[in-house]
Amino acid sequence: MPREKKVEHYDVVVIGGGAAGLTAAIYAGRARLNTLLIEKALVGGLATYTNEIENYPGFPDSPKGEDITNKMKQQAKNMGVKFKLTDVKSVDLEGEEKKVETFRNTYIAKTVILATGGRPRITKAKNEENYLFDKGISFCATCDAAANTGKTVVVIGSGDAAIEEGMFLTKFASKVIVSVMHDEGKMDCNEIAKEAALKNPKMEFIWNSVVDSFEGEGHLDKVVLKNLKTQELIEVPCDNCFEFIGYIPNTEIFKDQINLTPQGYILTNDKMETNIEGVFACGDVREKWLKQVATAVGDGAVAGYAAEKYIAESEAFHNVIMQKDKPGLTYVYNAIDAESRAFLSTIEKFEEMYSENLVVNRIDVYKSTGLADRLGITNFPAVVTTINGAISKIYTDDIDENEITSELEKIC
Ligand SMILES: Cc1cc2nc3c(=O)[nH]c(=O)nc-3n(C[C@H](O)[C@H](O)[C@H](O)COP(=O)(O)OP(=O)(O)OC[C@H]3O[C@@H](n4cnc5c(N)ncnc54)[C@H](O)[C@@H]3O)c2cc1C
Repeated sequence: MPREKKVEHYDVVVIGGGAAGLTAAIYAGRARLNTLLIEKALVGGLATYTNEIENYPGFPDSPKGEDITNKMKQQAKNMGVKFKLTDVKSVDLEGEEKKVETFRNTYIAKTVILATGGRPRITKAKNEENYLFDKGISFCATCDAAANTGKTVVVIGSGDAAIEEGMFLTKFASKVIVSVMHDEGKMDCNEIAKEAALKNPKMEFIWNSVVDSFEGEGHLDKVVLKNLKTQELIEVPCDNCFEFIGYIPNTEIFKDQINLTPQGYILTNDKMETNIEGVFACGDVREKWLKQVATAVGDGAVAGYAAEKYIAESEAFHNVIMQKDKPGLTYVYNAIDAESRAFLSTIEKFEEMYSENLVVNRIDVYKSTGLADRLGITNFPAVVTTINGAISKIYTDDIDENEITSELEKIC
């Protein structure tokens, strides 16, 4: 008989334990939210595989990636974050209770933060796995260019990333040899980058080529290319190879629920909100311009903070605005708008008149529109009356004090 799954409840479940997920968890944990982080491989994510991180602020001695991410992990633990090392198999993100399924457990959460990162696309040529990351095959020029000062490097690909990163590499390397699968002069990048690259004296191109194999004792020292037209094998001695043939976001399990770009990245706004309320995304998994540890950390901070605000608003909405004990009156206004402020004295009058029988709330949309959004109000100021936890009437556009008074007379 199949074993029944254990069910656990959390305020926040973070999927993915890289720099973005760890930071989101630190912020959520620090806000005293019951937070779980689920990681399927290595807590620390991609940065853990990097030997030297030279550009993460506050660490001038170029530490190993894992030295930084281990500290993040410790910090999250100090904030009470719980960790599970397992693979998230599926999610059900709609509604107020979100479900995250692993092999053994079901986690139910008020908010979910998606921080599953991505993986560089690889060539799948012979011996490639022997040299990935620190043994001669890199995927990040910003990260590894300085280590190749004065050296010969091979770049695979001819898209915008390959050519622009290749040109960046010419500032450090003595020679940048680019393997392009197309006929001479044809590249996948934009025309401006192409022209600049073709004129760059440090760049050489090997046309109609793909990688056949990677060779070297312990560390890569040769890339063997194959000419697609003649099948000729071309040995290219080098110190390092940079592959820029695409990046694959880890979004397969979200694709039917979350809005993605055609390339599979999660679309968010600047609060890291996705198309589903209470679901946030951060780090390399989302559509963004610069994928680095520093930006992953920034995204994670915003996502953790936004999750906390979302939960606080949810609680205020259910327990205060839509309370069932008494009739309610909620004034939704913008504190920087004079008309909105002027009507506050009328609200105070209602509060005094019906002090025993009416719950009066004020929502200032200048601070956040979250509660107004939940009430479905986009025009401010507005007055909302509630009975038994349901909206009775919404008054907006030339709010009539007498109309409200006559309703309050009936319901209070
Ligand atoms: C070789 C290399 C060198 C780099 N060097 C630098 C550098 O020097 N400086 C710099 O700033 N940036 C560098 N970067 C970029 C940097 O590593 C990333 O931008 C950053 O790590 C992204 O963090 P993240 O948390 O968004 O994603 P990731 O670090 O990719 O973390 C995502 C995590 O989610 C987990 N996950 C995925 N799916 C699931 C699932 N279904 N269930 C549970 N867990 C899941 C993954 O296992 C992974 O641990 C480098 C990148 C590479 C590839």
